Amino acid sequence: MYSQRLEVGRLVQDVRKIVNRFYYSSIIFVDSSRFVTKMFNLILFGPPGSGKGTQSERLIEKYGLIHLSTGNLLREEIINQTQLGLEAKSYMEKGQLVPDEVVIGMIRSALRSNPEAKGFLFDGFPRTVAQSEALDGLLGENNTEISAVLALDVTEEQLVERLLNRGKTSGRSDDTNESIIRARITEYENKTAAVAKYYEAFDKVVRIQGEGSIDRIFDSLCKEIDLRKVA
Ligand code: AMP
Repeated sequence: MYSQRLEVGRLVQDVRKIVNRFYYSSIIFVDSSRFVTKMFNLILFGPPGSGKGTQSERLIEKYGLIHLSTGNLLREEIINQTQLGLEAKSYMEKGQLVPDEVVIGMIRSALRSNPEAKGFLFDGFPRTVAQSEALDGLLGENNTEISAVLALDVTEEQLVERLLNRGKTSGRSDDTNESIIRARITEYENKTAAVAKYYEAFDKVVRIQGEGSIDRIFDSLCKEIDLRKVA
C-alpha cells in the first residue's frame, strides 16, 4: 500500500515536471519570436539637408513605423521651455551636437513609451558612435535590433543650397545662417560619418542616391526596405 502511494506520488511529480517544462519553454519561445520577428527598425542616415525628414514622413506612413527624430524632440523641449530644452538650445544655435547622454535619455524614454510598436524609424539619431552603441544596447534589451541603415548621399553644395532654401520657410534659426549650416556639416563629417562605418562592420548600411526627385528617392528607399522586410 505504501509503495503504491509512493509510485503515484512520483508519477504526479513527473507529470508536473513535464507540464512545467513545456509551459516555461513555450513562454520563452512565444516571447522571443514576438520581439525578433515582429519589430522592424530602420535608421535613416545622412548629413543635415539630405532629406531625412521629408522621406521619414512618407516611410512611417507606408510601413507603420514610429518616427523618432531627435531634432524634433529637442525642438519640442525648447518650445516647452524645459531645462533639457534650455541646455540643448545653446548647442543647436551654434550648429553643434547636443551631448550624448541628453539624446540617449530621450530615445530611452521614447522606446519605453512605445512597447507595442511594429518598429521605429530613427531620423537624426544616432549621430555619434557612443549613441549607436547605446541604441544597440537599448534595442537588445527588447531582443530586437537595427534592420538596416539607409544612408542618403548628397553633395555638400547641394546640402547648403537646400538648407538655405528651407530656412526661408522652416522658421529654424540654424537653417538661415550659412556659417551655422557649414558648422553642422563639419560636425557631421567629424562625428557622425563614423556611425555609417560602425554599422558597415555589421553589414547593415545601404547607400541611396539622395539627389533627384522626392518620389524617385522614396522609390529607391522602399525597394531596399522591401528586400529586407519580413512580411
Ligand atoms: P536635426 O533636426 O536632425 O537637423 O537636428 C537639429 C540639431 O539638433 C542638430 O544640429 C543638433 O544640434 C541637435 N541634434 C539632433 N539630433 C541630435 C543627436 N542625435 N545628437 C546630438 N545632437 C542632436
